[in-house]
Amino acid sequence: MSEVLYPKAWFDDKVVDVEDLVMPVPSPSAQYGMALFEGIRGYPREGGVAVVACLQHMKRMYESAMASDLNFRSPIPLGDAVRAVFELMKHNEVRGPCYVRPYLFHQGTGHAALRRGVQAGTHLSIHVERWEGYLPPDGVRCTLSDIPKPMYRHAQYKTSGNYVLCTEAKSEAIHRGFDNCILRDCRGYIAEGASENLFLEMGGCLLEPIAADGPILPGITATILRGIARSMGVEVSERNLTPQHLRAADGILLCGTAAEATHVKEVDGHVYNGGKPTKIIGEIIRRYRHLVNEAEESSWLTYVTT
Ligand code: PMP
Repeated sequence: MSEVLYPKAWFDDKVVDVEDLVMPVPSPSAQYGMALFEGIRGYPREGGVAVVACLQHMKRMYESAMASDLNFRSPIPLGDAVRAVFELMKHNEVRGPCYVRPYLFHQGTGHAALRRGVQAGTHLSIHVERWEGYLPPDGVRCTLSDIPKPMYRHAQYKTSGNYVLCTEAKSEAIHRGFDNCILRDCRGYIAEGASENLFLEMGGCLLEPIAADGPILPGITATILRGIARSMGVEVSERNLTPQHLRAADGILLCGTAAEATHVKEVDGHVYNGGKPTKIIGEIIRRYRHLVNEAEESSWLTYVTT
């Protein structure tokens, strides 16, 4: 079917062929983007793969499903969904870099109404991609997008519908010759990248936007990097960040499951530290890459023998 997708996938409570993952067109998930998803990375290790933060990702999706109040009732419990990812690694004999995409969507009743009750029945699918990398590992050229991120509760969830805006902003950045974009919320505060969280380095400390206030996904990679930074004695704090902060920063760090940890070389022609990572950002990136690619023991990793 596809050179990108592994042949075996998960549907509700069993392994299926990836061609058999189907979604009804009248479903509100297809019509209105009312679905939740996750992105989980696996890194090759001898005899198998190390899966990063599988429980944390699934938990975020399950908790968003409950909090979103849109009738998501997963067909299987959280623990089984986590085990499904590991089972898929084995069924597909994954030995290379991969990206796992769990997805919760509604069957729907066929009714087009915008109201609770017509969603009817939740399905869980999981498919696995062969992964080629995402952002340039040697630094990213960004533009500050003019498209404001709306402030509403679901902006903090990985709801499919949210990604129309992210895709538009990122595509526009690429069209204008950049690798990625940085988005502001509708108050003008810096929010995040197209699918990354960000940290600014200023005076030897890291600053990040106030996640609880904004249309910002509480990122799992950012949680890992916060821990790394603090273990290096670097203070990390939240602040409402403006484009002036962005310009005055010594360096910028972007992070996400797909993006991993990478430094920003420039924003709209303003170059940071000669295009190189600062000492602090460089060391955080080095430690993150070591964790996912090489670490033998970490509470963030599950080793699956395939
Ligand atoms: N913000 C957005 C909008 C994202 O899509 C992602 C990627 N999931 C992130 C931040 C980073 O989150 P995580 O580190 O959990 O992948």
